[in-house]
Amino acid sequence: MMSGFSRLRAGGLLATAALFATAACGAGAAETAPDGKPAVVAAFYPLQWLTEQVGGSDAQVSGLTPPGVEPHDVELGIQQVTELKNATLAVYVKGVQPAVDEAVEPDTSFDAATSVATIPVGEHAGEHAGEGEESAEEHGHEELPYDPHLWLDPSRLATVATKLGERLATADPAHAQGYKDRAAKTAAALTALDQEFAKGLTTCTTRTLVTAHEAFGYLSDRYRLKQIGITLDPETEPSPARLSEVAKLAKAEGVTTIFTEALVSPKVAEVLASQVGAKTAVLDPLESKPSGDYLSAMRDNLKTLQTALGCTA
Ligand SMILES: [Zn+2]
Repeated sequence: MMSGFSRLRAGGLLATAALFATAACGAGAAETAPDGKPAVVAAFYPLQWLTEQVGGSDAQVSGLTPPGVEPHDVELGIQQVTELKNATLAVYVKGVQPAVDEAVEPDTSFDAATSVATIPVGEHAGEHAGEGEESAEEHGHEELPYDPHLWLDPSRLATVATKLGERLATADPAHAQGYKDRAAKTAAALTALDQEFAKGLTTCTTRTLVTAHEAFGYLSDRYRLKQIGITLDPETEPSPARLSEVAKLAKAEGVTTIFTEALVSPKVAEVLASQVGAKTAVLDPLESKPSGDYLSAMRDNLKTLQTALGCTA
């Protein structure tokens, strides 16, 4: 508990800080970090990585979702809501985190989904009958006209990098050239990664991807793969009927590997793999920080896919 005295004192300090900030920035100016750099908040890992690349040393970039937390489930405290509202720019993907969608201000936010061509939430929707609508709603995707996992296509993320560079240049004109240069460099690195994927997945024994969490729609769209998701929500147990349906499809398509992911229990994938006579492997949806960075984790994903799908490079 705070004593009456320290509460008063904290209040006084806050008021002083607010006055000081107003005096320093002028009325209506965007929030800046203590060292004068624009404060940019990125909603979850891949966006944080991208924003750090593009912002460089000109921006003070912070991540909203702590490492190891499924971003879909994130709940925001008062401090984080304030951070989002006061940021020079909040970078997010509408539809991933309902709490963030609610907290951001239209004038000081950048929704990455508005920069690229989106795809609908899997055509599989009808195949989820019997799972219950509640689960999809909890995952936060259900109301959306599109699939939000767009960062898993490097070519779309390259476009986001360019658009983000333009947006940061507008928000902080004194450093416009730096943002644009770094955005171009980041887009080039992502385009190179896209070419590696295209080349590495050209000739494969099977093009069917059976995943625990349906996060790979954009990757499948870009590289002509077919995703079969066991469930839309990784935390929901699929019905026995859904499991045997996926097992049948997997056998028919010559699937040898069922994909699971680090933040989700592999149990369902393991049950399915044993029914199909397949192995399991981890494919990272990059919703949380990997051990390396976005580029190295995607290259690991490419290797995993090439082995699992029997691709010859
Ligand atoms: Zn997801």
